[in-house]
Amino acid sequence: MSETKKCAQPACSCTVPKGEDYCSTYCESTKGTTEIMCKCGHPGCKGDVV
Ligand SMILES: [Zn+2]
Ligand SMILES: [Zn+2]
Repeated sequence: MSETKKCAQPACSCTVPKGEDYCSTYCESTKGTTEIMCKCGHPGCKGDVV
């Protein structure tokens, strides 16, 4: 059983390890902003497709 949760960035669909809030520095930098698309660049992230 993996200890993962969703990235704290609402627009991001990535999972992050336990103890982390964001999957990347990109998501962390968007804290407090309203992003429509995530551009963290991780494979599988919905921001990469839509
Ligand atoms: Zn993402
Ligand atoms: Zn993220």
